[in-house]
Amino acid sequence: MATRLPFTGVFEVITVYLQKGTLWKSGIHQGIDLRSTNKKVYSICNGIVERAGYDNGGFGNYVRIKEDGTENRIYLAHLDKIYVKVGERVTYTTVVGLMGNTGNSTTPHTHVEIREFKNGVAVKKLNPANYMGIPNKKGTYNSKDYQIPNTNANYAANKAYSGVSIVEALQEINIDSSYENRKRIAILNGINNYTGTASQNTLLLNLVKNGKLKV
Ligand SMILES: [Zn+2]
Repeated sequence: MATRLPFTGVFEVITVYLQKGTLWKSGIHQGIDLRSTNKKVYSICNGIVERAGYDNGGFGNYVRIKEDGTENRIYLAHLDKIYVKVGERVTYTTVVGLMGNTGNSTTPHTHVEIREFKNGVAVKKLNPANYMGIPNKKGTYNSKDYQIPNTNANYAANKAYSGVSIVEALQEINIDSSYENRKRIAILNGINNYTGTASQNTLLLNLVKNGKLKV
């Protein structure tokens, strides 16, 4: 089990997503701020580190991670220390750094921000509270209440595929499409009685077309 949260144990939401205020250039808080007495900051997704360093724009020490199977970029900012390097693969259980007070920050915390990219460019901000599964509300929470299965699952995506065959869709992205492997993948995605029926295959196909197929 794992979580999509940057902290384990008890943590606080101290500034919500879309809070208004003069601290931010845009007048609106574009992420969510969390703090915990456990200073280890975990990756909140499976993915690849794209940036790891100091940002003058306000993030201070931060990491940017590209999430597997989507175009989402996850930002974890104001870190004290960074423990990962660009190009490194991370999972929900990877400690990427320590909570800190660098950049545009007045108290130690971790700013979590999610941007959806298209063709290498950020097109919109996503609600990080929704992503993490917590309320977008100030308060004290415990990570044990927000567990998710499949800690190390990777997600496969074939968004360009327009056909109707799961076998073909998997082959196009170099994933073993044999019955045995499809059965294994089906179980990972919650289909425990996979026999290769049309409706089961359509379900898997829709997941891979949306970049949500656990493999
Ligand atoms: Zn913030």
